[in-house]
Amino acid sequence: MIFITGDVHAKIKDNWEQEAAGSELDNSLKYLEILKKNNLAATLFLNGILLDKETEKVKELLKYNVEIGGHTYNNFDGMNIIKSYIYRKRYGCIYGSESYQKKDIEKTKKAFESIGLKMNSWRTHAFGSNEKTFIILKENGVKYVSDLFDEKPFLKNEIIHMPINIPVDQNTIAYGNLKPENRNPFASCTKGRIKPQEWFEILKQRVEENEKKKTNSIILIHPETMAALDNFELFKKITKFLSKYKSSKISEFKL
Ligand SMILES: [Zn+2]
Repeated sequence: MIFITGDVHAKIKDNWEQEAAGSELDNSLKYLEILKKNNLAATLFLNGILLDKETEKVKELLKYNVEIGGHTYNNFDGMNIIKSYIYRKRYGCIYGSESYQKKDIEKTKKAFESIGLKMNSWRTHAFGSNEKTFIILKENGVKYVSDLFDEKPFLKNEIIHMPINIPVDQNTIAYGNLKPENRNPFASCTKGRIKPQEWFEILKQRVEENEKKKTNSIILIHPETMAALDNFELFKKITKFLSKYKSSKISEFKL
């Protein structure tokens, strides 16, 4: 079984992918349309603010075979090197204090409820969670979290963790030739990156191995990254390959 997931953000300051490819919600619609052609289900983790501010577009997503999960309200209200350093030192994660996390998760949950959705699943932006996050999520009715690293899903303190077990597109692939805009030290340091096709070969191999072992493949492919890379050309190839496998949504998983 494969689980295709994507993270969808509101406007992030100085984000070169967004500057190159436009609205993440618009690109999510294109992403879901490609998945639909290949009969694949997906889970998209959305910033809560998108449900409040771009409700009509979010409702368009829901016409597809997709589950919507939470992805913080608005990316920690912005992050920079200093804030992230202080938060890591003070709280052991970039999501900040327990009271900030609680407010943020409740606000995101409310955004879901305001359009008649239940927030069953969650991924913290930049995987920036700590143990406290999972307790707060549980208290807010979230059962599935996809933040941690492991080989396969596991249950801990009443949360089913769905770790991504395939290398992630962002921060792995190199985008075209070196240009000033893709040398942004935050988003796009190019050292150690591999060509998109090499990444696709690794993805194929890992999914095939997992299927042989009867292990679930939990995959993160960002709609915005696929748009910025080559306007979904690689994504079309990936989905064609994945279409031979059974796909499911995060909160449909049973241990
Ligand atoms: Zn994110």
